[in-house]
Amino acid sequence: MSVSLLGAAEIRTLAAELDVTPTKKLGQNFVVDANTVRRIVQVAGVQTGERVVEIGPGLGSLTLALLETGASVTAVEIDHRLAERLPQTATAHGVPDGALTVVDADAMRVTELAGDPTVLVANLPYNVSVPVLLHFLETFPRIERGVVMVQAEVGERLAAPPGSKVYGAPSVKAAWYGAWRLCGTVSRHVFWPVPNVDSVLVGFSRDAEPRGSDDERRATFAVIDAAFQQRRKMLRQALAGVLGGSAAEASVVLERAGVEPTVRGEQLGVDDFARIASAV
Ligand code: SAM
Repeated sequence: MSVSLLGAAEIRTLAAELDVTPTKKLGQNFVVDANTVRRIVQVAGVQTGERVVEIGPGLGSLTLALLETGASVTAVEIDHRLAERLPQTATAHGVPDGALTVVDADAMRVTELAGDPTVLVANLPYNVSVPVLLHFLETFPRIERGVVMVQAEVGERLAAPPGSKVYGAPSVKAAWYGAWRLCGTVSRHVFWPVPNVDSVLVGFSRDAEPRGSDDERRATFAVIDAAFQQRRKMLRQALAGVLGGSAAEASVVLERAGVEPTVRGEQLGVDDFARIASAV
């Protein structure tokens, strides 16, 4: 039996049955367009037999499209009503036993995942998309690639190169893990309810080798945060607090790292930040 997808009418009926009124707080905008979920799965290149983790499966639109490929899916959902119902929806849509594992939890608190997934695919809740992504990349080093749908502004930030207008702390932190690319826009009208913003698909591939240890990552992220908290300031001033206490001391560290003390953080790439952190 092949897997069938959820239709727009069925999504509304399911929500009504579960007494779910989509909430902004949990970023509950459900995709009601089959072409969109198939497109996400195709952009992610999900293949039969692959192990995928999905964050926020909701009523199951994207989950079923992932399962349609013959991949197995571990889906993490914070809303108990949705998490509880998903296995039943999957069975009714032809998903074979064992292909779907549902974790009823806040994704930010998940530290173990059944099946050791290697691919992450998600239509992320707007308000927590960056922290959830970084948490998964950090906690699950076996995740080697993925595609996420996020608010356009967030996606552009994740994929931004140094020097661009929207480059910020999320861009540099994301780059710590690998390469990011924008993979197309998604109209707000494929969602129910319709959000106030358009979305984009963002793909990532983890670097073959980790850029540094956990301690090095923490130290680098502290420097990144300080640099972008005062992004209009020269680095020797913005980093004074984390590099010794004064602009003069920060200049010494920056020079040791081969970074001009008068540049701004928005001009530097992740390797520059890592060098600064290790020069302290
Ligand atoms: N994947 C579904 C779709 O495409 O129709 C739903 C996507 S909706 C944008 C986001 C989903 O993430 C909702 O189901 C929401 O309940 C869930 N969610 C929100 N915060 C979460 C968290 N911290 N951990 C896990 N799931 C979360």
